[in-house]
Amino acid sequence: MNLPEKKTVHPKSSAYQRIATEEAFAPPEMLNIYKKILEKGDADPGFRGLMGFYMSSPSARAQHIIRCLTDMDTLRIQHMDECGIDKQVLALTSPGVQVMEKADAVAYAQVANDYLADAIRRHPTRFVGMLTVAPQDPQAAAKEIERGVNKLGIHSVVINSHTQGEYLSDPKFWDIFAAAEAHDTPIYLHPNSLPKNMLQPFQECGLDGAIYGFGVETGLHAMRIITAGVFDRFPRLKMIIGHMGEALPYWMYRLDYMHRATVASQRYDSMKPIKKKPSDYLRENFYITNSGVAWEPAIKFAQQVVGVDRVLYAMDYPYQHQVDEVIALDNMTMSAEDKKMFFQTNAETVFKIR
Ligand code: CA
Repeated sequence: MNLPEKKTVHPKSSAYQRIATEEAFAPPEMLNIYKKILEKGDADPGFRGLMGFYMSSPSARAQHIIRCLTDMDTLRIQHMDECGIDKQVLALTSPGVQVMEKADAVAYAQVANDYLADAIRRHPTRFVGMLTVAPQDPQAAAKEIERGVNKLGIHSVVINSHTQGEYLSDPKFWDIFAAAEAHDTPIYLHPNSLPKNMLQPFQECGLDGAIYGFGVETGLHAMRIITAGVFDRFPRLKMIIGHMGEALPYWMYRLDYMHRATVASQRYDSMKPIKKKPSDYLRENFYITNSGVAWEPAIKFAQQVVGVDRVLYAMDYPYQHQVDEVIALDNMTMSAEDKKMFFQTNAETVFKIR
């Protein structure tokens, strides 16, 4: 056996497990589907800019990312060991099935979930999963949540923000929320490449991706869900947002003030009164991960304004994969109890890791 030589760069911690909660994978079969979509020529420009780049760029970074995304065994676990990551919570990489035609998306979501469940069965102490669903068919998505919980033992869902320009604030998608609430499966609202009608002013200056555009668009999506009254209708629904809550914790005061003022002015038909302040839903219905943001002040601010029980550790493997970030977070000035919640126990609660 010529396995690559294992080197532990950062040892596991005896004080807590490190559970990374926004980690990506891509079955080779899905990349073949993407290739066909990209070959058709009329592919969504945001998708072409993102996955078109990773799948065709000769750059070492792009090739490394594809290699890591498609490995569910030796290489991935070697990288986890090198960073001292005990467990990865795995999600099909963005945009998952959301870029596919409806029937293909429904069918492939099941294939991807079975593929993920197989990987978890091979490595039950290292991998945890999130279910992929096709929002293009909300009733099928609801059924897949039920199948995922009951047959595959997976207790959370990933949705990569907008689906071909449509937002989950539209009640036509709310069967998905009903199923997620009924089965107590939190929905991780992960970024997608920007929709066509938002792309140009971001892309022309190179700010459309993870640097800024993703956060703007996913934060907008979360706010649309809140202001549409989704959590009044589904009060036990849980959502997760990454990248320090896509900056929404920092906005909370102004969101509350201006939401109140806008509702009172009756300026928009689309902005109806809701039962609570936007910040209340962010505190009571959302969890926040620090994916891509290994920055102590931001993590502590979020803990302060949404609660230490609502902020979770994530790395964003393989797009961001830095052992120095793990070390920096280990060294945060924080009580041992809060640090264990951040790295381990909040994730165990949210993703039902037993
Ligand atoms: Ca990610």
